[in-house]
Amino acid sequence: MSLEIINLWYVVSAALFIFGLKQLGSPATAVKGNKISSLAMLIAVVVTLFNKNILPWEWIIGAILVGSLVGAITAQKVEMTSMPEMVALFNGSGGIASLMVGWAALYNVGNTTFTDITILLSILIGGMTFSGSILAWGKLSEVINSAAVVFGAQRFVNALILVAIVVCSVMFCLEPAVDSPYLYAVIALALIFGVMAVLPIGGADMPVVISLLNSYSGLAACAAGFAINNNILIVAGSMVGAAGIILTNIMCKAMNRSLGHVLFSGFGAVKEATKVEGEVKPINSEDAFLILEAAQSVTFVPGYGMAVAQAQHVVRELGELLEKNGAEVTYAIHPVAGRMPGHMNVLLAEANVPYDQLVEMDDINPRIDKVDVAVVIGANDVVNPAARNDENSPIYGMPIINVDYAQTVFVLKRSMASGFSGVDNPLFFGDNTRMLFGDAKQSIAAVVAEFKT
Ligand code: NDP
Repeated sequence: MSLEIINLWYVVSAALFIFGLKQLGSPATAVKGNKISSLAMLIAVVVTLFNKNILPWEWIIGAILVGSLVGAITAQKVEMTSMPEMVALFNGSGGIASLMVGWAALYNVGNTTFTDITILLSILIGGMTFSGSILAWGKLSEVINSAAVVFGAQRFVNALILVAIVVCSVMFCLEPAVDSPYLYAVIALALIFGVMAVLPIGGADMPVVISLLNSYSGLAACAAGFAINNNILIVAGSMVGAAGIILTNIMCKAMNRSLGHVLFSGFGAVKEATKVEGEVKPINSEDAFLILEAAQSVTFVPGYGMAVAQAQHVVRELGELLEKNGAEVTYAIHPVAGRMPGHMNVLLAEANVPYDQLVEMDDINPRIDKVDVAVVIGANDVVNPAARNDENSPIYGMPIINVDYAQTVFVLKRSMASGFSGVDNPLFFGDNTRMLFGDAKQSIAAVVAEFKT
């Protein structure tokens, strides 16, 4: 294939990537966007491998089949709640791939200084993305302790590593060679720095760091693209890099935390929340049904517990029954409900909840006092009024859905346990709050059963 034809295919692939990414912006078109992006990736891979006859077509088809099989099985098996772990592994794979591509590019003859710098960057960013992502995966899957590890001289040690990286990088660029000792030093330091960067991050901040590592894996791929002069790698890498940093920013804003705070302070390590005490008022499914039957407006507020209970289908069923009963039904979505951005949207879309019933936090809050019943389904941190009222709370300042302002609040959860951030929730003791204890799916199914009899 001539270079012109290859670049033409790369343009097609890049256009499909951009179009696919755009489609991912709405739940209605997200599935189509995913398919379009997959097609773009297929074109990019096949064209690259045909270029310069890197592989014979039998190998390409064989590899596509094996890769598709592994991908399909993994996608089927992975729980929605384990998605951040999976993304961590993807990021790690991207990082190590960029490191290897950069390293291999050193064997090319006639590299310019610019190429040498991009090689170094792909090795450096790829290496730290790899080790950081593996550590993040370990923390998220609780193979190792997921808490933030903060120690006295941490910043000093990190600064020393950074200085060593800069020195070794400069020495390498002055005399680049495959067997340069500075190259090995840079690889080792990058791997250590990845670990050091993720160590002080823990708890509810982990998904943010996954998104940031996603961005790094894109930047590493982009640098690798420059190193081997591959246009689609540059384009796709920069898109991943940009998308990752935008998402990181959105998450930080939704938690009211700066990126610097997420990266360096250790979640919850600085404050001790005020102790919450009061009277808990439990309710059973029969009484919950009676209140819901009389309600004119009902807002469901799903959280991580809905994903655990897989209650989305039965929630949709209850929503339909309430609508038939004459109530206005909405689903209020907090941007960081669940364990990944869009987690609740995906679950509700899977259960065929109409998109126009989904309301964002900023839209529901101004009118939540008019809502007769807010049904909190396995959400905790995202409805915790301490974020609004308790300056000592580690989550103080995080925007929440103000369910405590609704006329009546039902909280569906199994116990009085705290949410992901480990912070107590005064909502459970509110005058207008009723606790419907139990697995969310079973609790909602019991209310649905009451409606049907
Ligand atoms: P939380 O983790 O705060 O609370 C989930 C609640 O669900 C728990 O209190 C638990 O209580 C309950 N639960 C668990 N299983 C069940 C079940 N089977 N049935 C009923 N209830 C159940 O979830 P939120 O969605 O409110 O908050 C998300 C957290 O994740 C926030 O801290 C957010 O900052 C953080 N985060 C999210 C990100 C994202 O992108 N979504 C990104 C970064 C951070 P019990 O054990 O008593 O049942």
